[in-house]
Amino acid sequence: MATLKDQLIVNLLKEEQVPQNKITVVGVGAVGMACAISILMKDLADELALVDVMEDKLKGEMMDLQHGSLFLKTPKIVSSKDYCVTANSKLVIITAGARQQEGESRLNLVQRNVNIFKFIIPSIVQNSPDCKIIIVTNPVDILTYVVWKISGFPVGRVIGSGCNLDSARFRYLIGEKLGVNPTSCHGWVLGEHGDSSVPIWSGVNVAGVTLKSLNPAIGTDADKEQWKNVHKQVVEGGYEVLNMKGYTSWAIGLSVTDLARSILKNLKRVHPVTTLVKGFHGIKEEVFLSIPCVLGQSGITDFVKVNMTAEEEALLKKSADTLWNMQKDLQL
Ligand code: NAD
Repeated sequence: MATLKDQLIVNLLKEEQVPQNKITVVGVGAVGMACAISILMKDLADELALVDVMEDKLKGEMMDLQHGSLFLKTPKIVSSKDYCVTANSKLVIITAGARQQEGESRLNLVQRNVNIFKFIIPSIVQNSPDCKIIIVTNPVDILTYVVWKISGFPVGRVIGSGCNLDSARFRYLIGEKLGVNPTSCHGWVLGEHGDSSVPIWSGVNVAGVTLKSLNPAIGTDADKEQWKNVHKQVVEGGYEVLNMKGYTSWAIGLSVTDLARSILKNLKRVHPVTTLVKGFHGIKEEVFLSIPCVLGQSGITDFVKVNMTAEEEALLKKSADTLWNMQKDLQL
C-alpha cells in the first residue's frame, strides 16, 4: 500500500547529497556551542556537524538546534562521536579539550590536550583531507603548532583563532573610550593569545589618524591618560568573565564565526590569527603566534609585514620565547 509520502510527493531525481559548505565543530562545550549557534545565525553552512565524546550532551545539543530549523537556513544538522559524520567538511573548528585542574601546570594541561588531539586530528584528516582547521582550544598557539605537526597539512590550512578575540576586545574598549563604533577603531593585538600578547599602539588609528601622533606616549608608563590600561583590560577581561560566569563563550563564538566567513566566502580579509612565524621579527624557532593574515578559501594565503617599533618587536620576540619554552618539551 502506498504510504502517505508516496501519495503526496512524486520523486523526479535521485540526487547524491554532497554538502558544498559543510562546517564541523569538535567539542560541544560552551565555546563549541557558541560557535555553532553563531555559524547558524549567519547562514554560513549547508551542513553543520557536531562531535564530542559526551554522547548524551552531544545528542541533546544537536536535537535542540534541529528543533530551531524552522528559523534557520542550514538544512542539515548532524552529530556523532564517530568522525564519519564530519566527512566532506570545508572547515573544522576544534574547541574540544580538557580543562585545567586545580594545581595542574599549564605544561601538563598542554600534554593532556596533545594526547586528545593525537586522536582527533588524524580522524578529521582522514574524513576531510582538503579541509581548513581552526583551533580554538587553549593554549591555542601551541596547539596550532601541534595540529600542523599531526595533520601534515600545509601551514596555511591550519589556523589558530589566536589574537582575533584579543584584538576584538581591544577595539571594543578603544571604541568605548572614544565614543566610536569598534569597526571604526583600527588596532591590532599580536603575539601570544593571552598573557604576553602585544598591543601595536604605533598603528592604532581612527580614520587613518594614529592616536600616537596625538599622544606620543600612548601605551607607555609616561602617558598621563594611561591608555595602556586598555590592553591590561584586554588581558584581564577574559579571566574576569571566566571568574564571573565560569567560561567565556559569546565573544569567542562570534569572532571564530567571523574567521569562518572569510574562509567560506573567500573574502581575503586580514585577521590577527595564529600562524608559523619562523624567520620573521627575529624569531628562529618553529613558533606559532598571531600576525595579520589574509584569509580566504585556501586558508591563510599571505600575511602583512607590520611596521613595529623596536620595543613592540622585542615584546613579540619575548612572546615567542614564552611559547617555545612550553612547546619544545612536548611529546607528539
Ligand atoms: P568545555 O569543557 O565546556 O568543553 C570542552 C568540550 O570538549 C566538552 O564538551 C568535552 O566533552 C569535549 N571533549 C573533551 N575531550 C574530547 C575528545 N577527545 N573528543 C571530542 N570532544 C572532547 O570547555 P569550553 O569552555 O567550551 O572551552 C573549550 C576550549 O576553548 C578551552 O580550551 C578554552 O580554554 C578554549 N577557549 C579559547 C579561547 C580563544 O580565544 N582561543 C577563548 C575561550 C575559550
